[in-house]
Amino acid sequence: MKTEFSLAQLADPDIAEADKILRACVHCGFCTATCPTYVLLGDELDSPRGRIYLIKEMLEKDRPPTPEVVKHIDRCLSCLACMTTCPSGVNYMHLVDQARVRIERDFSRPFAERALRAVLALVLPRPGLFRASMIMARLGRPFAALLPAPKTTATPGLLRRIKAMLALAPNSLPAPGPAGGSVFPAAGVRRGRVALLQGCAQQVLAPRINQAAINLLTRHGIEVVLVKDEQCCGALTHHLGRDDDALARARANVTVWQREAEQNGLDAILVTTSGCGTVIKDYGFMLREDRDFAGSAAQISALAKDITEFLGGIDLNPSSQKNDVTVAYHSACSLQHGQKITQLPKELLSKNGFVVKDVPESHLCCGSAGTYNILQPDIASRLRDRKIANIATVKPDMIAAGNIGCMVQIAGGTSVPVVHTIELLDWATGGPRPGLAGSGLD
Ligand code: SF4
Ligand code: SF4
Repeated sequence: MKTEFSLAQLADPDIAEADKILRACVHCGFCTATCPTYVLLGDELDSPRGRIYLIKEMLEKDRPPTPEVVKHIDRCLSCLACMTTCPSGVNYMHLVDQARVRIERDFSRPFAERALRAVLALVLPRPGLFRASMIMARLGRPFAALLPAPKTTATPGLLRRIKAMLALAPNSLPAPGPAGGSVFPAAGVRRGRVALLQGCAQQVLAPRINQAAINLLTRHGIEVVLVKDEQCCGALTHHLGRDDDALARARANVTVWQREAEQNGLDAILVTTSGCGTVIKDYGFMLREDRDFAGSAAQISALAKDITEFLGGIDLNPSSQKNDVTVAYHSACSLQHGQKITQLPKELLSKNGFVVKDVPESHLCCGSAGTYNILQPDIASRLRDRKIANIATVKPDMIAAGNIGCMVQIAGGTSVPVVHTIELLDWATGGPRPGLAGSGLD
């Protein structure tokens, strides 16, 4: 694609990056076929190619985002299916990230929308606040039915979004997991040492996931540390276009992980929430212009691994075969498109005795996408219903996923237990059976 940035514009490293990305696009349109919003809405401006044009116009003309541009960028899930499909290697992720930052900086959203986004950015990355808000949402849920029916508009109103938020609150919250600073020694001879990302929403909604990871890793000779003073990875505010917040969190995490690696040694930083993993692996890029952090951020990104990547490198000891358990594997977008991890989780499950089924249309997002299911509840619900219908065709006993956002989204529409891949692997190697009533996400 031809671009017309001035030399002065190209002196800005972000614009130079955007120029490189835009020039790689040959507008072939292959990406439209796998874009969930284009598949549902059929509007070129809700396709990756359409959005790329909108972003190009906005950046080239250096003009504030119009309501039309904001509408179509807001509808993008950042699922990155387009990056998997694109034959020209267009880095849509870095382009849309820039667009979101510009929208946040230069576009004045209506007051109610600004307030909602501010609340989400404040609450979601802070486990204490998030826990309190979940309790309040649970108490408020019975009143949701009393709210007047929201109007159907191109952009959902505040009422619709509040209803969506209340619907996502779980019926009960489990007790909090172990605190930052905890160290879990390896059983027997120590074969390695890793940090485990504590996460923010996940540690409130399902601390059992990281507990399963700790149990499995220590059982296989790996010491696990929950690094003190670690923060939310920044993914949630990054996707809201609030880069100052996201970058501050990235710097804080790089600092504490680097210190841990230098003082006590780390073979990897393991992540059980693939949405977070995609962003941590991008810290090196996000902080590339920061002279004080560029090098260490790149090192941290290189250390970050999805838990399944790490487990692929060690021999697990299955204690029992689970070949009577059929698992539908839901491939989270951030894992399959963001990190290109597609086969490994399924291979690990199969190798450890589960009957693993692929879900039809597995490239399509379930509609969770960070805060998307709150901010765009209508599209998100349609994607969830489509995902659940596809899952039902394989008649699973359980649904496995590697991302808490997907787990909550899918669990909201099915009675089949939704569990994390690591919980199944822990079960296969001697841990408790997951997915029992009362284990969360109900
Ligand atoms: S598939 Fe790639 S090159 Fe083709 S239009 Fe989409 S982003 Fe551009
Ligand atoms: S990230 Fe997903 S929703 Fe956004 S343009 Fe790409 S495929 Fe479509």
